[in-house]
Amino acid sequence: MAQYDYDLFTIGAGSGGVRASRHAAALGARVAVAEERYLGGTCVNVGCIPKKLFSYAAHYGEDIAHAAGYGWSSAARAFDWRTLLANKDREIERLNGVYERLLRGAGVTLLRARAALIDAHTVEVDGRRISARHILVATGGWPVVPPIPGAELAISSNEAFHMDALPRRVLVVGGGYIAVEFASIFNGLGVDTTLIYRGERLLKGFDADLGGFLAGEMENKGVHIRLRSDIERIERTAHAGALRATLAQGGELEADGVMYATGRAPNTRGLGLEYAGVNLAANGAIVVDANFQSNVPSIHAVGDVIDRVLLTPVALAEGMVVAERLFGSGGRSMDYEYIPTAIFSNPNIGTVGWSEAKARERAGDIDVYRTTFGALRHQLTGSGEKVLMKLVVDRASGRVLGVHMVGPDAGEIIQGFAVALKCGATKSQFDATIGIHPTIAEEFVTMREAAG
Ligand code: NDP
Repeated sequence: MAQYDYDLFTIGAGSGGVRASRHAAALGARVAVAEERYLGGTCVNVGCIPKKLFSYAAHYGEDIAHAAGYGWSSAARAFDWRTLLANKDREIERLNGVYERLLRGAGVTLLRARAALIDAHTVEVDGRRISARHILVATGGWPVVPPIPGAELAISSNEAFHMDALPRRVLVVGGGYIAVEFASIFNGLGVDTTLIYRGERLLKGFDADLGGFLAGEMENKGVHIRLRSDIERIERTAHAGALRATLAQGGELEADGVMYATGRAPNTRGLGLEYAGVNLAANGAIVVDANFQSNVPSIHAVGDVIDRVLLTPVALAEGMVVAERLFGSGGRSMDYEYIPTAIFSNPNIGTVGWSEAKARERAGDIDVYRTTFGALRHQLTGSGEKVLMKLVVDRASGRVLGVHMVGPDAGEIIQGFAVALKCGATKSQFDATIGIHPTIAEEFVTMREAAG
C-alpha cells in the first residue's frame, strides 16, 4: 500500500473544510489543511457572522425609535460606522483564533498558504509537494458581478464589510438573500437605499408570498424597490465619489455606492483540478456523487464549491459525511429534505419545507393556512410592521409540508418547526400543541381556517 504524508489533505479552512478535518482527525486520521486567506471562510469573515452583526446594528436604530412608545427617550440618535467596523473586526479576529485553536487542538496540521493539486494524490503548497490518500476540496465560492461597463466601480458583499465610510445613497442589485439582507442593513443604518431587481418578485425559489410580503414591509421602512429593472452601465459623475447608473429599461439613478448581490460562483480556478482530471460543471462547480466523491476516487468536495445548497450548516453536515465515510463507520448520509433557512432582512424571513407552488405540483391536494397581523409589541411603538405566517399541508395525510414566516426572529422560530417537519408532524399535531402566550410563534399552532 502506498505511503502518503497525510490520510486527508483539505484545501480550504471554511465551514465544511474545518468540520471535515476536525472530525477526520478525531477518527484517527492524519490531517492537514491549507488556507490561503482567512480561517473560517466566507461565513466567519465575509458572510453569516459579520452580516448578522450588521443586521443587529441596523435593527438597533429602529428599536431606539420604537422605544419612545414605551416611555424611553434618548438624545438624538447618532450612528458611527467606524465603531461598528472596529467591533465587528475584533469579533471576527476572535473567531479566527477559535478556528485555529480548534484545528490545532484536534491535531490537524494547519498550513497558511495556497494549495493546488498536482495529481490525484498530490498537492503543492509553498513549492513543497505533499501527498495524501484523500484530498478534500472545500474552497467555497466568490461573489459574481455581471460584466457590465463600469462594473469595476461597483462592490460586492466582500467589500461591503470593509467600506471606509457608509455611502449616503446606495443601489443594491439582486433579489436574493444577500440583496435583501444588505438593502435592509443599509436602510437601517440610515443610507438612502434602492433595491434593483430584474424579476417580478423578490426571492425567487421561495414561497411566493414571502418575497411580495417582504417587499411591502421593506418599502414601508423606507427602501425604494425597483422590480423588472437592471443596470446597463455605471459611470462616475462630476461630483466626487458619486456614481450614475443607467437602467436598461430607461432612466438613470445617482448614488454614492452600487453593490451587486447577484449570486456566487464556485472557487475552482487555479486549483489544478484539471491535472487530477476532476470533472467540473459548466459553472465551475466540482461534480460529486451522493458521498461527495468526484470522478477521481481520491478527491472529494463539500460546501459552496459543489454548488448544491449554499448554507454553512449544510457544508458542516456534508463535511461530517465525508469524514465518516473515509475514516469512520461510513453510515452517515446527507439528507437535503426540510433544510430550514433564515434571511436576515428587516423583517426577517424563516422558512422550512415546501412552498405552496411546489406542494401543489408534487402533492396535489393541499390546504394552505395563512395569517397576517401586527405584533403586540408594535401596538405601542406606532410601527405598522406586519407579520406573515403560513402553513402548507398535505390534505390526504395531514402532514405539514411547509412552514413560512416573515417577522421578528423568524429564524429562531422556524428552527423548532424544522424539527417537527423532520419528524413528519401533521396539522392535527400542530393543533394539539399548546401555544405560548403572548408570542408571535403561537399563531403557528392556532391557525384553524384553511385559506385554500
Ligand atoms: P442568490 O442566488 O440568492 O440571488 C442572486 C440574485 O441575483 C437573484 O435575485 C438573481 O435573479 C439575481 N441575478 C443573478 N444574476 C444576475 C444578473 N446578471 N443581473 C441581475 N441580477 C442577477 O444569491 P446571493 O448572492 O444573494 O447569495 C448567494 C447564496 O449565499 C444564497 O443563495 C444563499 O444560499 C447563501 N446565503 C445565505 C444567507 C443566509 O443563510 N441567511 C445569507 C446570504 C447568502 P433571479 O432570481 O432572476 O435569477
